[in-house]
Amino acid sequence: AQALVDEKDATAMALGYVSDAKRVDARKHPAFAAEQSCARCALYQGQPTDKSGGCPLFAGKQVAGSGWCSGWSRKA
Ligand code: SF4
Repeated sequence: AQALVDEKDATAMALGYVSDAKRVDARKHPAFAAEQSCARCALYQGQPTDKSGGCPLFAGKQVAGSGWCSGWSRKA
C-alpha cells in the first residue's frame, strides 16, 4: 500500500494539509467549512467510506479520508 502523506512534507505544508480536518487552522484557511474533508472532495480517488485514498495533488501517496487541504473542491 502507498504511504500516507506526512503533514510535514513540503507539499503538505504548502497546501495546509492535515490528516484530521478538525485540526484545520480556520484563521489561515477562512474558506474551510466543517463538512469538508478529503472523503468529500472532488479530487479524492478513494470511496467516500475509505480511510485513505489517492489525491492528484499528492502523487504516489495516500491522503486520509478525514483529512483536508486548501485544494479542497466540491464534488459536482
Ligand atoms: Fe484532500 Fe481534496 Fe486536498 Fe486532495 S485536494 S488532499 S482529496 S482536500
